[in-house]
Amino acid sequence: MKSEFSIHVAKENLKFSAAHFIAYKGFREPLHGHNYQVGVRVEGALTHTGYVVDFGLIKKLTREIVDRIDERTIVPERSDCLTIDRPNPGQVRIRYEDDEFVLPARDVALLPIVHSSAEELARYIWQELAAALGSHHALSDVGALEVSVAEGPGQAAIFRKEVGRD
Ligand code: ZN
Repeated sequence: MKSEFSIHVAKENLKFSAAHFIAYKGFREPLHGHNYQVGVRVEGALTHTGYVVDFGLIKKLTREIVDRIDERTIVPERSDCLTIDRPNPGQVRIRYEDDEFVLPARDVALLPIVHSSAEELARYIWQELAAALGSHHALSDVGALEVSVAEGPGQAAIFRKEVGRD
């Protein structure tokens, strides 16, 4: 598809605050937090409405994804070095070598990622947003979708991909 236009959304309300730590074999960051800023760019052709895609819908769907992570501790459930289980339904336990965290389950955002890096968060939000746009039948005029995640001002990870047509 010709993608001559793009829209970009990076509003104040697409921020979220979360705790996380990066961990891989032999290394673990201490638990800490960021005020993340999410940005979304949608590339596509102009529709008969004069828009590429409805700004309001993009903001609403992105906010819904961000709300599920906001004020939680991000836990990457596909980690190859963390052992994650539920000692009881209300708790999530995360073990790394000799360290153990036990958190209330409602304080945790368990995400299908390997590391809670800005890069993997950008790809996760991209996947969730593409699925949400698809379920709103709003993908047909979209050529590509780009999601950026910044852990702080001036440093963002970007995931961009053409949207599969089906
Ligand atoms: Zn961090």
